[in-house]
Formats: sequence, C-alpha cells, structure tokens
Amino acid sequence: MDQRTHSWIAIRAIALLEDENKEENLVKLLKPHVRKASVGAWIPDAIDAKRGGAGSSTDNHILKTEPYKGNQASRFIIKKDELLESIGMYRKTAQFLRNDNYLDEQWWATPYRGDVPKPGQHLPNRAMAMSTMMKDLLLMGNQEIDQLIPGDVRFAQYMAPKARTQEEAAAMYFFMLSHFIADAGMPCHCDGRKLAGYAEGLHKELETHWSQRVGTSFEKKNLLQAKADSSRVLQQARDIDTKFGLNFGGASIPDLHRGHDIWLEVIYICRASFAVASIIAPYKQYKYDDPKARAPFNAIFGGANKQLLDDLSQTVMYDAVLNIAIVWKHIWNKVSKE
Ligand SMILES: [Zn+2]
Repeated sequence: MDQRTHSWIAIRAIALLEDENKEENLVKLLKPHVRKASVGAWIPDAIDAKRGGAGSSTDNHILKTEPYKGNQASRFIIKKDELLESIGMYRKTAQFLRNDNYLDEQWWATPYRGDVPKPGQHLPNRAMAMSTMMKDLLLMGNQEIDQLIPGDVRFAQYMAPKARTQEEAAAMYFFMLSHFIADAGMPCHCDGRKLAGYAEGLHKELETHWSQRVGTSFEKKNLLQAKADSSRVLQQARDIDTKFGLNFGGASIPDLHRGHDIWLEVIYICRASFAVASIIAPYKQYKYDDPKARAPFNAIFGGANKQLLDDLSQTVMYDAVLNIAIVWKHIWNKVSKE
C-alpha cells in the first residue's frame, strides 16, 4: 500500500477500536495523535528514513513464499482446513479462500516456504520484534501513559522523565507497527514470484488502485493541515468503508488465535496472503519457477474480472484494519490486563 492507504488503514483501526468500546484507554492514547498516523504508518517505507550508509535505512519487510524442495517437506505443508482454522473465519481472507476452488488438493498438499533475500527483512520477525519492544516501552511510559495502565512499575520512578516513553512516541510505535501488519496481508509482499515485485506492474498498480479509492484526504500533507478534530478524522475514515464495500457492523475484535504469538499469527497471515496471490495471478498460468512471467493489472483484473478486483480489495482492506486492531489490542492487554 502507498502512504495514504497505510494512513487510512491505521486510522480506520483506531475507529474500529473506538466502535468496539472495550479498550477505552488504548483509544485515549492513540486518538489525540490520529493525524500523525500518516507519518508513523509510513515510516517503514519512507525512502529517506536512513542515516549514514545505505545499510542503516529502514529495510524491506516481506516474506517471499515459494514451493519448497528441501528435505523437511512436512514442516512446510499447511492444509486448507488448518490454514482457515489458524486465521479464523472472522477474517475475510479465510472466507475468500474457503470460497475458492482454484487451489486444488494438490496445491494444498505442496510444501511452501517463505524467505527473504537479506537477513532482517523477515516480516513476521519485524512485527514480533517491534511488538515485544513496545510492551517494554509502554511499561516505562510517562505519567500520562502510566495513568492509562493499571499497576506500578517500580523502576520507572528512577528514570529521568524524558527517558520514559511519551504518549506521542507510543502512538508513533503503534502506527509504525500497523504498517508491517497491513503489508503482511498484501498478497504481493508474500509471493516469491518475480511478478509480485514492486517494480513489476501488479504490485504497484494494485496499490495505485487502492490509493485512488482512499482519496486525497488521507494524504499526509492534507491530514496534517486539516482543521478537523480527531473525532472528525475518525469519521472520515469510517466514510471510506463504502469505497471498499466494508461493513464492520460492530465486529468484535478477537485476541490472537489460541496458542499464537504475534509471530505465528503473522506467519499464517502471510501464508494466506500467498495463497490469495496464487489465485489472483493463477499459479498454473504464471508459474512459480518462471522468472519472466509478468501479470499486469489489466490482464488480471480487466474485463470480466472486475468482480475479482472488488472481492480482493474488500478482503485485503477489511483484514488489514481488523488485523491491526487485533495486534494493537493484544499488546495493550498484555501490559494492562495480564
Ligand atoms: Zn511496506
């Protein structure tokens, strides 16, 4: 997704939490900083987010999945039932895959493995690392954060006030994390085929399509300049729902699947996202081992396939918002309820 789409998704997740009306204090932390979502949710992709050598830039975050040919095959097979159960039918991606007949039994019996070209780019690792650190940083929050979280952390009194996490910083971390979660559900991020690369058409064209639907009001400069108060911004985010055919209808926000940590939850989200990619750019036509294959947007979604585009957009956007709310809420509950 591009900047304005990431910004809208993060803001829509705050609105979803507000509508659920269960995590009042988390909403109290995030809502006043809602416009800054346009900054934070984009930091992981900001190309100028680097100092010194190129090695210090914010790195790519992907999980490029391909058929696995090694000798641990059984470890990398996830049958359809297991995947649907692991991501839960409350996710639109699970419904999308349940309704699909294109991926046959043989596809689901094949081992696939996600990998990264360079160490440090592993998307589930990044989501896990960031959320683990966020729990620690929330525990050493300043007084305002402290008031939102029950219990005492005794060492915090020995920290210089400025060393304790400020609300603005905490909100920024939540927004940055939202980026990784949203990308995990973007099918091109998890598809190892060359055709899914950012420069190769489909990826970028799909993002442009979504960006046009989100519209310019979630563009960073417009959002930062807008006079609307936080409640109004959240409402503007809800108003975008119709553009993607979204209906959250008071959806409750579940915890992570039982037995999952954020790493495993994101692993399954990535695997599901790879399965979706294998449907939209049909893997029998655009083969996994064909580095020359390209799947231009018009070839995939043109003509009679307009419905596929609408279904995909609805699925990806709904889950991006829900997944972020799930992960944020999980982190918040870890520091405030257990
Ligand atoms: Zn990204």
